[in-house]
Amino acid sequence: MTLLRSGSSTDTGLVRSVNQDLAVETGTLFAVADGMGGHAGGEVAARLAVDTLNVAFGAKPTGAGLSEAVSEANRVVFEHSLDNPDLRGMGTTMTAAALVNEDGKDVIALVNVGDSRSYRFHDGELSQITVDHSLAEEMVRSGEISEAEAAVHPHRHILTRALGVSDDVVVDLWRILPTRGDRFLLCSDGLTNELESPQIAEVLATVPDPQTAADLLVRAARTHGGSDNITVVVIDVVVGEDDRADLPVVAAVAPDFTSPAADEGPVEDPEVATGAAEGVEVLPGPEPLRPTFGARWRARRKARREARGRRLVTVRTVLFAALVVAIAYAAFYAVRWYDTNAYYVQIDNNELMIYHGRVGGGVLYKPVRVERTGVTTADVPAYTIPQLTSGVQESSLQAAQAYVYNLVASQRQITCAQNPLTSGCSTSSTTSTTLPAGGVATTTTTGAP
Ligand code: MN
Repeated sequence: MTLLRSGSSTDTGLVRSVNQDLAVETGTLFAVADGMGGHAGGEVAARLAVDTLNVAFGAKPTGAGLSEAVSEANRVVFEHSLDNPDLRGMGTTMTAAALVNEDGKDVIALVNVGDSRSYRFHDGELSQITVDHSLAEEMVRSGEISEAEAAVHPHRHILTRALGVSDDVVVDLWRILPTRGDRFLLCSDGLTNELESPQIAEVLATVPDPQTAADLLVRAARTHGGSDNITVVVIDVVVGEDDRADLPVVAAVAPDFTSPAADEGPVEDPEVATGAAEGVEVLPGPEPLRPTFGARWRARRKARREARGRRLVTVRTVLFAALVVAIAYAAFYAVRWYDTNAYYVQIDNNELMIYHGRVGGGVLYKPVRVERTGVTTADVPAYTIPQLTSGVQESSLQAAQAYVYNLVASQRQITCAQNPLTSGCSTSSTTSTTLPAGGVATTTTTGAP
C-alpha cells in the first residue's frame, strides 16, 4: 500500500514569451514535458505527448506500459509533424513517474527522454536519477570532458534524444521502491539551469508541503534569471510500500550507461535490458534542437568560459608556446648559420667578385658582395670561366681569396709558357716551367708589384 501526495508549478520565466513546458499531475501519473520547435511547434509537441502518455499508460499501467506509452507519444508527435509542414522538426522532452503495481508490489516507475530530469530526495540527499540526453552529457560519459566542463559546455543544450524527431526512440526506464519520506522531483531544464543542486535540496529539505515546495522552486529559478520556461512536479511518498527506510532501490536501468543511477542495482527486467541494449545513441545532426537561451544565462556561461580560458593560458599554453618559439628560433639560426657560413667567387661584369653567402642565395640570407678582386676574366684560365660564371663556393673568405690568386697564377703560368718574354715571366720562367702547379702561387705572389 503506497500513498502519494504531490504538487506542481510552471512558469513562462522572464525571457520567453510563451510557455512550452507542460506538467502532468494525476493520482498515479506525473510528468514534465519541455516542448521545442518554432511557431507553435513546442506547445503542440508537449501537448500531444502528454495526452498520448495519459491515454496509453491508462491502458497498461505498468513500468513497461509507461515506457511503451512514451514510445507511443513519440510516434504520435512524429507523425503529426510529418502531416503538418508548419510543425516540422517539433519535439519534446519527457520525464515521467508513475506508481504501478508489479508482482504484487508497488513500484515507482520512472522514464526519461531528453534533458528534463528526475531526482530522488532520500535521507536528506538529492540524487539525479535520469541521465541527460545531451551532447555535453555524452561527452562526460565518454570521458572527453569533466562534469565541471559540461556545466559550461557550449553544446550543453544540444539534445541527443527527444520525442517526435524520428520514428523511433529509446526510452530509459527505472524502477524504485517507494520509501516513506522520499520525495521525487521532476523538472524541466529551466529549473536546473538556474539553480544548483544544493539550492534545490534546501527547498526540498525545509518545505514539507509538495505544492508549496514546487511553487518556491519555480519562484527561485525566476528570481535567479528565469531564462527559460520552468516546470516542477514534487511527489511525496506519504506511506511507503515497505516502511523500512533503509530499503535499497529495487532496480535501475540501462546497462550501457555509467550513471550513478545505473550503479544502484542490477537490471531485473529483461525487457528493459534488451530495449536499452539496442539504444545506440543517434545524434540528430549539427543543428541544435534547442537553440535559444536567456541572455543572462549566456552571459554567465561566457564569464565561466573566459575564466577557464585564463586558467588554461597560465598553465599548458605558455609552456607549449615557449617550446614552439624555442624550436622556431633554433631552426631559424641553424638555417641562417648554414646560409652565412660560406663565401663564393663569381663573375660580375667581367670581374671576379667574392660574395658572403651561398651561390644562388640562401633561405634566410641574401648574399652580399664583400670584395672586388680587380681580377678580370682575361686574368684567369679560360676553362674556369663557365664555373666562375655560375659561382664557385668556398668555405671562408681566405679560401675564396686563395682560389682567385691560384687562378691568376695558373693563367700567368700558361702565359709565360706560351711566351717567356712577357713581362713578369723572365725572373721565374725557369722555375715556373719546372715546378708543379702547387708552387706557382708563391712565385706569382712574390713576383707581383
Ligand atoms: Mn527548457
